[in-house]
Amino acid sequence: MSRQKIVIYCRYSSDMQRADSCADQERAVRAVLMRHGYAADDIIVIKDEAESGTKTAREGFQLLRAMIARGEVAAVAVDDQSRLARDNNSFAFIQDLVFAGGRFLSTGEGIDTDVSGWELKVQVLQLHHGQTVRDLQHRVRRGQEGRVRADGSAGDFPYGYESFYLDPDWAAQLARRGPKPKKGVRVCEVEAGWVLQVFAWFVAGYSIGWIARELTRLGVPKGGRATTPGWHPQQVHRILTNAKYVGHWVWGMTTTVRDSGGRKKQAAVPRGQEVTRDRPDLRIVEQGVWDRAATRLAELGATFGTKDGQKRRGPKPNPADIYPRSPLGGILTCGACGAKLWLHHSNARRYYACPGAKKGLCGMTTQVPADRAEGALTAYLLDLLRGWPDWMGVLFRLTCDAVRAAADRVPAERERDARRADDLDRQIRNLVDALAAGGLSSPAVAARLREAEGEKAEVERRLAGYAAVGSAAVALPDEAWVAARLGEWAARAASAAGPESLLRLALASAAAEPVIAAGKKRGFVRLRVRVNAWGALAAAAGDSLPATVRHAPAAPADPGPEFSLDLGEPTAMDRWAPAIAEWRAAGVTWEEIVRRTGMDLNRVFVAWKRYTGASGDGPQAA
Ligand SMILES: [Zn+2]
Repeated sequence: MSRQKIVIYCRYSSDMQRADSCADQERAVRAVLMRHGYAADDIIVIKDEAESGTKTAREGFQLLRAMIARGEVAAVAVDDQSRLARDNNSFAFIQDLVFAGGRFLSTGEGIDTDVSGWELKVQVLQLHHGQTVRDLQHRVRRGQEGRVRADGSAGDFPYGYESFYLDPDWAAQLARRGPKPKKGVRVCEVEAGWVLQVFAWFVAGYSIGWIARELTRLGVPKGGRATTPGWHPQQVHRILTNAKYVGHWVWGMTTTVRDSGGRKKQAAVPRGQEVTRDRPDLRIVEQGVWDRAATRLAELGATFGTKDGQKRRGPKPNPADIYPRSPLGGILTCGACGAKLWLHHSNARRYYACPGAKKGLCGMTTQVPADRAEGALTAYLLDLLRGWPDWMGVLFRLTCDAVRAAADRVPAERERDARRADDLDRQIRNLVDALAAGGLSSPAVAARLREAEGEKAEVERRLAGYAAVGSAAVALPDEAWVAARLGEWAARAASAAGPESLLRLALASAAAEPVIAAGKKRGFVRLRVRVNAWGALAAAAGDSLPATVRHAPAAPADPGPEFSLDLGEPTAMDRWAPAIAEWRAAGVTWEEIVRRTGMDLNRVFVAWKRYTGASGDGPQAA
C-alpha cells in the first residue's frame, strides 16, 4: 500500500509577482510542516507558475484535486489560502478535502482544519481576498474612465488607430522615475486604408466571408496585438459595426464578469455607466458609406439573424455550454493543416469543418458529414476489434513478454529488499532504545528514526509489488480469451453508450482529407485512422488483467498501422476519366469508348474534357 502524501501547493501569478516567489512559499511552509512532525519523505510540492488565482484550470491545481479524489492526500499546506483561489472557491475546496479525510494547513494565516473553528476563519479570509480582487478591478476601470474623459487613450482603440505620447518631451518623462507620460489616440493611415477597403467591398456587395478570405490572401496585417494568422469573418463583422469609425466613441459598454470556476466573459454594464465622446477628428468612414453598410447589414440580419420578439438578452452563451461534446471533437483533424475540426450545426445537419478554411488559411473546404463519419468509424472499429487483427495479437504478446521479464527479475530483487527490511527493523529498534534512554530529547536521533521509517515503508511497498508481478506471470490471460473480450467490449461500447465511448477510447487519431477528381470542385472525404490498440485492450479486459499488465507499457512506441476509410466513392465518370484520356490519346473512337465504359456519349465526353482540361464543343469536333 502506498503512503498518503503531504502536498505543499505554491502559485505565483502574472508579472507582478516574482518568479522565485514559489521557492519562498515552499521554504516557509516546509518549515512549519516539519514542526508538525511530518516526514520529509512524505512531502511533495505542486507548483503553478504564472497563473491567475481566479482560474481553476491550472494544471497543478487540477492534479492536486485528482489526487485528493483518489484518496492519495493526507494534508494540503499553503502559505496563504489565496494561493488556492482568490475568489469564492477556497472554502468549498477545503471542505471537500476535509470530507475526503484530509487536513488543510495555511501556515501564513494559522489555519488548521484539525483545530475547531477553522470554517469561520477560512470564510472571513475568503471574503477579504475576493474584495481585494474587486477593488483592484474597480481602480483600473476608474483610471481608464478618467483618461477617456480627458480624450486620451485607455488602450482600447480598434483596428485603424494607434496611440502616441501627448507630450513632446515623453522620452525624457519615460527615462525619469514617476508616472508614465500620457497617451492619446490617432488614426493609423495604413490600417485606416484597409478599414475603408472593407467598407467599400461590403457596400459593393461582397460577402463578409469573402472579405475575410481576401484580407487573408493579401496578407493584410491585423494590427499590433493580434497573434493568430488570418482574418476571421467575425473580425470583419466587428469592423463593419464599430461606430468609432464615424467618430462616435463609446467606452465601457461591457465589463468582465467571472463564474465560480474563474471563467471570464464580457457582460453589458447598466445603462448610463458607459462614457460617450464624439471625436470627429477620429472619423475614418464617410457617413454615406457607413449608412449604406448599415442598411446592408440590417438586410442580412433580417434574412439570417434573430427575428423580432426573439431578442437575446445578456452576453452570448458559450457554445460549449449548449452543445454536448461531439463524438469526434478533439480527435478528428484536418489532413491539410493539422487543425482540429469543429462540429457545426446547420439546421438539422451536423458537419465537421476546418476552422482555417473559414479564414482562407487552409484549402480543406470539404465538410465532413458528422453522422456519416461517426457511423462509418463505429462500424469500422467494431469490425476491426472483433476480428483480433494480427498487430493487436503482436502487441498483446509483447506486453506479456515484458511482464514475464519483470517477473524473472523479481526473486533477486525481492531477496535484496527483504534483507534491507530486516536491517531497517534492527536500526529502528536501536534508535527507539536510544531515544528512550536519552529522555526522548535528541532531534538528531528523531530525524534518523523518521528517515529509517520512511525507507522501510518504501521497501515494504516494493515487496508488496513483487507479489503482484509474481502472480501475474502465472495468471497472464490466454490470447484467445482476451480477443473474445475485446470483441464483446467493442459491441457493448458501440451500442449501449452511443458511438462516443467506443470512438473516444479506441481511436488514436483520425485525419480528414478531401478526394477531389481532376477538374472538379467537390468530392468526398477520406479518413486516415490509427487505432489506440492498447487503450482498447486495457478497457476490454478491464479488471481481468493483473494491475501490473494494465499499467505497464501503456504507450507502445509503434503507433500501429494506418487505415483509410472513404465516406463516399468516385462517380463512374471520375473512375473512367483517366482511361478515357489514354484511349483518346491512342486514337480510340468515341463509339468504342462508349461501348467499353457503358456510359452515354455525353457523359464520356464531359469526363474526358474535365480530366484533360481540353476545350471543345463535342465529340463531333474530334
Ligand atoms: Zn485545415
